[in-house]
Amino acid sequence: MIKNIFKTPTSYTTLPSSFYQQVNPIPVKTPQLICLNNSLAEQLQLHDYIKNPSKATELFSGNAIPDNTQPIALAYAGHQFGQFVPQLGDGRAVLLGECIDKRNQRWDVQLKGSGRTKFSRNGDGRCPLGPAIREYLVSEAMHALGVPTTRTLALVSTGEIVQREQAYPGGIVTRVASSHLRIGTFEYASAHLGKDAVIALTNYAISRHYPDCQQDTHPIRSFFKQLCLQQAKLIAKWLSLGFVHGVMNTDNTSISGETIDFGPCAFMESYNPDTVFSSIDRMGRYAYSQQPVIGQWNLGRLATCLLPLISDDQNEAMAILQSQLDDFLTIFRHNYHQQMIAKIGFVQESKTTLDLVKEYLHLMDINEADFTLSFRYLANVIESDQTEHLNLFNKKPGIQDWLKKWRQIITKEKQNINNLKQDLNHVNPAIIPRNHRIATIIDKAVEQQDYQPFLMFMEALKTPYSIQKKDLKYMEPAIQSELVTTTFCGT
Ligand code: AMP
Ligand code: MG
Repeated sequence: MIKNIFKTPTSYTTLPSSFYQQVNPIPVKTPQLICLNNSLAEQLQLHDYIKNPSKATELFSGNAIPDNTQPIALAYAGHQFGQFVPQLGDGRAVLLGECIDKRNQRWDVQLKGSGRTKFSRNGDGRCPLGPAIREYLVSEAMHALGVPTTRTLALVSTGEIVQREQAYPGGIVTRVASSHLRIGTFEYASAHLGKDAVIALTNYAISRHYPDCQQDTHPIRSFFKQLCLQQAKLIAKWLSLGFVHGVMNTDNTSISGETIDFGPCAFMESYNPDTVFSSIDRMGRYAYSQQPVIGQWNLGRLATCLLPLISDDQNEAMAILQSQLDDFLTIFRHNYHQQMIAKIGFVQESKTTLDLVKEYLHLMDINEADFTLSFRYLANVIESDQTEHLNLFNKKPGIQDWLKKWRQIITKEKQNINNLKQDLNHVNPAIIPRNHRIATIIDKAVEQQDYQPFLMFMEALKTPYSIQKKDLKYMEPAIQSELVTTTFCGT
């Protein structure tokens, strides 16, 4: 038995029991701890586990559960690729409990890949090691890039085989989230449990994530407004980094405004607004540039669940939420513009700065220039051209004219060059988890049980905005033979 690490009861169980199933993780054969996220473990005050890897292995494999705790699998529904699926839920995950960190913030600690639950449907409740590694790398990279996201606390290999189209080694990731409430949780309550349950869930969500709304005259309207704001900001951030989530179903849309579920996600290499990675996204529903519209559509599904709580007059309720929903794209656009003009060194949004962004993106598009490097190299080319930057734009003419115009505006604004360089490097990362890099790291881990490349890359991803000489290789885009254009959910 392990000492109880959760010094607080699981607040989720204050909801009616129809929202979850009490279920323990199913033990695995020979767990091995590949990585414990020490800084996150420290933040969560899990010092004992940093000092004692064998205890950490037991806990993060699900082979031992802390004393006096009852893990649960959460129920949810969701719209997947536009179709309503009334019964989803944690089919391969259990919430071990909730932690309070040093800053008094509450976190869910969840094992993913921990065995069957009543929500598993035909699945085996397990996760192949490859997708577990992808989730670790990308979620922690997102955190270091400054994007609201779920985190990864630990990665364990199970010593068991997971059968998919071929046999893979199994893995378990420990996910830490400020909660696992999803739009799909509301859809579940609304479809199966009735109005009182939706009210209970909404009150819980407000007190956990948007407590300030409690003081407002209309707390639920304020909650919806706040959530629209968080989602708009989140998606603007994704776009500014070239991130494609890949499976923006409503069950993968978090109420806290964090990025959640790193399935077929990937970062765009050469700029193309139509970029799609996911093997199952044949129509491009979740393409890079579609993400804001889909975010709004997802919030529309939440609005439908909240309508009965807003007013007895459903037409009035609809008008109220619709007007908030209509604001979503305006808020998104404002945030996106702010992010993008900062990426070329400006603070003030104006026609001039926005046109410059648009023209730069167009040049990237026609030159198939790498999105991340096109911005990162700007700090080096303020005063003079640099070959590495020019090489990105050598297919079609236009970059010289753009640079001339850009430098003129910088001079006109009398920007301090040194500060500008620093500012640019603070918003334009050098290192992102490039898809080909993730693919080779997964191959090494899965085929040779060599986790060193994963651990080294993970270290470099902790400081994406400052690059050390030894990490320069991580900046390199894929060469043609390395390009990975398709990603898989890997469930
Ligand atoms: P995801 O693709 O991770 O968003 O999962 C969608 C739904 O499928 C969720 O309800 C998952 O719990 C469920 N699911 C995914 N993989 C498995 C699996 N291997 N076993 C059982 N359920 C799964
Ligand atoms: Mg999911």
